[in-house]
Order: sequence, then structure tokens, then C-alpha cells
Amino acid sequence: MSEQSTSSQAPDRTPRVVIVGAGIAGVQTAVALREQGWRGAVTLLGDEPHQPYDRPPLSKAVLLGKADGSAFDVDFAALGIDLHLDRPVTALSPQARRVETADGPVPYDYAVLATGAAPVMLPGSEGLPGVHLLRTLDDAERLRPVLAAQHEIVVVGAGWIGAEFATAAREAGCAVTVVEAADRPLAGALPPEVAAHMAGWYADAGAELRTGARVASVAPGAVTLQDGTTLPADAVVVGIGARPATDWLAGSGVEVSPKDGSVLADGRLRTSVPDVYAVGDCASFPSARYGSRLLIHHWDNALQGPRTVAENIVRGGSEGLVYDPVPYFWSEQFGRFVQYAGHHVDADELVWRGDPAGAAWSVIWLREGRLVALLAVGRPRDLAQGRKLIERGTALDRERAANASVPLKSAAL
Ligand SMILES: Cc1cc2nc3c(=O)[nH]c(=O)nc-3n(C[C@H](O)[C@H](O)[C@H](O)COP(=O)(O)OP(=O)(O)OC[C@H]3O[C@@H](n4cnc5c(N)ncnc54)[C@H](O)[C@@H]3O)c2cc1C
Repeated sequence: MSEQSTSSQAPDRTPRVVIVGAGIAGVQTAVALREQGWRGAVTLLGDEPHQPYDRPPLSKAVLLGKADGSAFDVDFAALGIDLHLDRPVTALSPQARRVETADGPVPYDYAVLATGAAPVMLPGSEGLPGVHLLRTLDDAERLRPVLAAQHEIVVVGAGWIGAEFATAAREAGCAVTVVEAADRPLAGALPPEVAAHMAGWYADAGAELRTGARVASVAPGAVTLQDGTTLPADAVVVGIGARPATDWLAGSGVEVSPKDGSVLADGRLRTSVPDVYAVGDCASFPSARYGSRLLIHHWDNALQGPRTVAENIVRGGSEGLVYDPVPYFWSEQFGRFVQYAGHHVDADELVWRGDPAGAAWSVIWLREGRLVALLAVGRPRDLAQGRKLIERGTALDRERAANASVPLKSAAL
């Protein structure tokens, strides 16, 4: 670790943390550094031209024109955060302890990589007119008139973004067809017996969901599937996932996963390069809680991780806080508030609370009788209580847990 914070001698100049990426993880790192008493300089470099903003509203209120934007309510100047917009960082040079930008190098004592993720485009569709992604404020602004014109839209991918976009597009009065290569929505996130109940939400909202449907080609005005079906499309919205934005780190010595492109952080969110941390959508970390490395592309992870990074920078030394959260996310789709906490992959039992055909229900996952994950649809109390029970690894009485009229916390053994 740097000697800056561990040395008993006063540094001969102000130490500086340089944060690359001004999304929520970058902004929260800067804010948390100040909250935790970092007196040195904080420089925040973002490549977008806009004031830093939050992404979840983009697929909800912003898309529908119910909100103009979603800028963070942070007074950067008052916090002494040196914010630079429109300033892509092109490289990290650990030997020289600096990051490179078109406007010149920026030296660091500590660097924090918070470059998020970039959406994956359908191969062959790059630059095609009428084909959209939904990741940035600019993307949402380009999509607003498409919704307002009540176009016929094909959404590729029935994941979280696809479902939220389809919800907004239906609300705006567009004809919506969602094509999904897997046999169900949210195939990468939820098991078939749970996701099956969500497939019907599309039809209820008047959107057509086509599963097992692979896109063969996209041309202006049409999407052709591999089975030969051609779907008319005034616009195509691609929601097939995102990949950590880490290409710019090539040659830096920062270890990146060859599998998913994430920065391979350790349990304290440090990278393989001294004094360089990574947080948010761009980084994976080992979870002792779950016995596996996690790459989480959800808001709460980009909010919580920075607190650990800031504390570890401020505290310095080889000791430090370990980051091992119970993952949490939410989604608003088809008039439902969907929340998830935990990690169900190793669960050995699934228990329903309520009727999944109804408006409000939950499903919980147990491992050796202990709660490890929970999905709540329109039941925020289950989520709030379940999250705490998961954190404590509480064993549950199955019969009480399955009774939706009994508060989940009352099922604790
Ligand atoms: C439309 C949408 C809706 C969402 N809704 C939800 C939701 O309902 N619930 C939920 O839990 N999660 C949601 N998410 C996910 C959540 O927003 C992300 O997990 C979160 O934004 C990740 O924050 P981040 O700061 O790590 O990355 P990002 O938000 O991607 O920010 C990274 C920033 O770094 C910039 N950058 C990249 N490379 C460089 C570089 N070389 N130099 C300088 N800057 C760079 C990027 O342009 C970007 O501005 C949503 C995401 C999207 C896109």
C-alpha cells in the first residue's frame, strides 16, 4: 500500500485520489472519501458530457418524459471534489502513478476504477439507424421521441432492461414485441419455475413475448429471426447485457478476467496493482459468504462498494474492510415492484409465499434450512425482513415461511 497514509511523517504534498468514471460508483467513492475524513485531493474523471446522473430512472421516468433527468444531488465544489466531465481516461500507468487523458496525465496516490459497464450490441447491428441501446442519458433522450411517436418496436432480450423498456413503451402506446433467445424471460437471473410466472406479465401488458427466438439479422424497418419470421420494427432496442468497460486498462498490469472482462478485485476491492481499487459494475470480487467470485451489475453494489473503498483508502495499510455484501436489486416492470436479495445458486429448497399468479407474492430460497435468497413481487416487507435474515444466516420454520399472512421474520427459528 502507499506510504501516504501509513507514514508517521507528513506528506510533502497533498495526496490525491483519482477516480475514473463518474457514475454512481465513482461519485459515491468521492462523497464517501469526504464523509470518512479524507483531506487530500479528490479528482473525478468522467467521459460523459452530462453532470453525473443516476441510471435506474432512465428506463422508467426519464424515458417516459416524467422526469427531465436524474442528476445526483451532490455539490461537488462544496465537497472539494475536482470533477472533470467529457474527460475519457485512456490508460493507467502504474509505474508513473498516473492516468492518461487527451488533456494530459493526471497523477495519483490512489486510483479508483469505476468505469461501469458498456451495453452489448447485437453483432452486425452497430451503427444501423433505428437500432438503440439503453445505458446512458443520451440513449434515453434518443428513445423518448420513438416512444412518443408510438412506433412499432422490437425489443431484443427479455432481461431486466428489456422488461423495463417494454413496460415504458407499452405505457407510451407502442406496439411491442420482445424476442428472447432463451425459453423464458430473465433466464440468466432466475430459475424456470420462478421466471415462468413472469412470462405472463408481458401478455397482460399487451406486449408479445417470443421465447426461443434468435435474431438472424436486423435491417432498417425489420428484424428477421433464425426461424425465418420477419417482424416489422420502426425501432429496435437491444437489451442483451453489458460488459465491464475495462478495455482501456490493456497493458496496465491490472488483472482483468478473460471470461467476463471484469477487473479482478480482491476482498478489499484492491486490484492487482498497488493502490488501485475497483468498484461497481466494472469489478468482480471474491465473496466468502457465497464461496464464489461475484460480478454484480446492480445499483446497490455500486452504492455500497465505494464505502469500503473509501474506508480502505482513508485507513490505509494492509488491514482493511472486506466487502462481502448480500446482493440486492429491484426492478419496476409491468406495474410490479420486483425486489431480490441474496444469491440462490447454491440453495437446496424453494418455498413460495403467496400465489405467483396473483399481484403480490414472494419466493424464498433455503440452504440447509437457512434463508439465502428472496424474490419479492409487490411485497417490500418480505424483502426488508428477508434481507436481514439472509445477512444473519437465519434458519426458518418452513411452514410459517410458506404462510404469506405470517410476517417473514416470525418464521425465524
Ligand atoms: C437503464 C438502466 C436502468 C437500471 N435500473 C436498475 C434498477 O432498477 N435497479 C438496479 O438495481 N440497478 C439498475 N441498473 C443498474 C445500475 O444502474 C448500475 O449497476 C450502476 O449504474 C453501476 O454504476 P457504476 O458507477 O459502476 O457504472 P456506470 O453507471 O456505468 O458508470 C460508469 C461511468 O464511467 C464512465 N466511463 C467508462 N469508461 C471511462 C473512461 N475510460 N474514462 C472516464 N469515464 C469512463 C461511463 O461512461 C459512465 O459514465 C440500471 C441500469 C440501466 C442502464
